[in-house]
Amino acid sequence: MYKANILLIYSGGTIGMTKDPHTGILRAFDFDSLLDKIPELRLLDCNIETVSFDIPIDSSNINPKYWELIANLIEVNYNKFDGFVVLHGSDTMSYSASALSFMLENLDKPVIFTGSQLPIGDLRTDAKENLITSIQVASLHENGIPIIREVGLYFEYKLYRGNRTTKINAEHFEAFDSPNYPNLAESGVHLKVNKEYLKKETIKEKLIVRTAMDTNIGILKLFPGISKPLIEAVINTNNLKGLIIETYGSGNATTENWFVELLKEAINKGLYIINVTQCSGGSVIMGQYETSSQLKNIGVISGKDITTEAAVAKLMYLLGYKIARDKFPFYYEKPLRGELT
Ligand code: ASP
Repeated sequence: MYKANILLIYSGGTIGMTKDPHTGILRAFDFDSLLDKIPELRLLDCNIETVSFDIPIDSSNINPKYWELIANLIEVNYNKFDGFVVLHGSDTMSYSASALSFMLENLDKPVIFTGSQLPIGDLRTDAKENLITSIQVASLHENGIPIIREVGLYFEYKLYRGNRTTKINAEHFEAFDSPNYPNLAESGVHLKVNKEYLKKETIKEKLIVRTAMDTNIGILKLFPGISKPLIEAVINTNNLKGLIIETYGSGNATTENWFVELLKEAINKGLYIINVTQCSGGSVIMGQYETSSQLKNIGVISGKDITTEAAVAKLMYLLGYKIARDKFPFYYEKPLRGELT
C-alpha cells in the first residue's frame, strides 16, 4: 500500500504554541519534537517531515515576502512530497491561501492551510483535529495520484477552497466560512470528499512559481456619507495601481456626480478599480441597478463573487505579472484558480 509523503510547513500562529505552565505566556514550540508532542501523528498512514520558519510569526505580520518563502519551500520540495500542510495563524490565513493559489501555477498536489484557535498544548485545543485531518486530507490519493490538487483551507471539520474563504469569527472554533463555494470535504465519522467541487483537471505542465506581487493597491470601503476628500486622498495615493472598492449589495454605489467623475478620471489615468461587494455572500452584478451601471460604463472591473481576501491577492498577482492594460479586465474577471464563479 502506497504511503504518502507529507511536508508540514510551520509558519507560526497559535497552533504551534504552548503555554508556559508557570507564566501562562504563549511560546512557539520546537517543531522538531512535533511527533513527541502529538503521538497520534504516528498512527497516520503517511510519512511526515517538518520544516519551520526560522522565526515563526503571528500571521498579522504576514506579507508577500513570507508568501514567497512558503511558495519556494513548496517548489524545492515538490517532487519529493505528495502533499503539503501549511500551519498558519488564522487571522490572515485566507489572504495567504488565496495568494498561494495564484502563485502556484499548474499546482497538481494538495496544499492545505490550517491553524487553530487554541494552542496545541491546551487541554481543549482544536489544533489536534485540525492538524491530523489536514494531514489525512493531504494524503488522500487514488493509485498514487492526489485527490485534492489545489490550495485548500481546513478548519473545524471542513475543507474549503482556500481562495473562497474568509475568517468570520475570532473566538468560535468554526472560524471560517466559504460563502460562495461549497465545502470540498467534511469530516465526521467518515471523511466525506465532495468530488464534484474539487478542481477537476489534472495538470501535465511543470509547476511554475510566480512570486512577483505588486503591493501598490488599496481597499476602499464605501459608507453612506463618505466624503470627497477621503476618496480623493485614496485615489491620489502615490504610485497606486489598483483599488478594490467594497460596494453595497450587488455592486452598488452612490450616483453622485463628483463620485463617479473622480473614479472615471482615475481610471482614465490608468488606475484599475475593482468592484467587490461588502456582503459576505453573493455577487456583484454591474448593470442590475442604476447605482451600478454608471460604474460599469466608466470601466470599473467586476470582482463578481470573489472575497475581498482573494481580490487583494489577485490584484497583487496580476499587477506583479504585468498583464497588458487591454487584457487586465479580462483576466481579472475570469476565474484563474476557481476564485470566482
Ligand atoms: N493572532 C494569531 C495569528 O493569526 C491567531 C491565530 O493563530 O489563530 O497568528
